[in-house]
Amino acid sequence: MGNLIFKCPRTGMNVQHWLEEPKPGDPACAYETVVCKACTRLHFINRDTRKLLGERE
Ligand SMILES: [Zn+2]
Repeated sequence: MGNLIFKCPRTGMNVQHWLEEPKPGDPACAYETVVCKACTRLHFINRDTRKLLGERE
């Protein structure tokens, strides 16, 4: 894990987010919930692909 930069789909701004290491025993969740610093809403980011949920390829 580590530093992740994603593009906020609402504002188009690049937002930096620190992706936490999943703790042992945590339910395996592919998506990280991120409170966006640009639009203050929640986005979901896939831990494996580091892409936003719903983001176009
Ligand atoms: Zn956003």
